[in-house]
Amino acid sequence: VVLAPVPVGDVVETALSLFEPRFDAERVTLTRELPAGRLHVHAEEIRLEQVLVNLVANALDAVAGMEDATIAIGARRNGHKVEIWVSDSGPGIDRAHLERIFDPFFTTKPVGSGLGLGLSLSYNIIKDLGGTLAVAETGPEGTRFLITLEGTTAHV
Ligand code: ADP
Ligand code: MG
Repeated sequence: VVLAPVPVGDVVETALSLFEPRFDAERVTLTRELPAGRLHVHAEEIRLEQVLVNLVANALDAVAGMEDATIAIGARRNGHKVEIWVSDSGPGIDRAHLERIFDPFFTTKPVGSGLGLGLSLSYNIIKDLGGTLAVAETGPEGTRFLITLEGTTAHV
């Protein structure tokens, strides 16, 4: 894989733009938790975008039909690393399911609506990029997925 500095804010916006109609139609409040300056990660833009798309799609599915549904997407520098998260106010992931969600074809969605490939694909992409993808928090208040990648010192 060829890694290059990727501007996190731009990738986040590209991924989010695909979902604008869903956020509107499903009345989900979206919050961006992005730093003021430009933040870059060592990555492949298209593949990072694919992961964000998968995580946001799952977050939207998780809050479907809920009152006061919120989704937050954010990023921050943490030493040499950059953390990118997608969190939702959904019902959380069942304890019994937690160890299987990254398995290919694991899904709790009705037949035809989920292939169960999004998280396994995303996990492998982030691993290929030298980072990690994990569930940082999950419970009745919601779920937060956290991507950690190597940051860069690139600016502008
Ligand atoms: P799919 O979305 O097709 O079901 P994924 O691999 O994207 O497949 O996700 C696997 C499963 O992980 C989902 O079916 C769901 O049970 C669980 N999951 C993923 N994201 C969330 C989330 N944000 N909140 C609750 N459960 C989730
Ligand atoms: Mg999915």
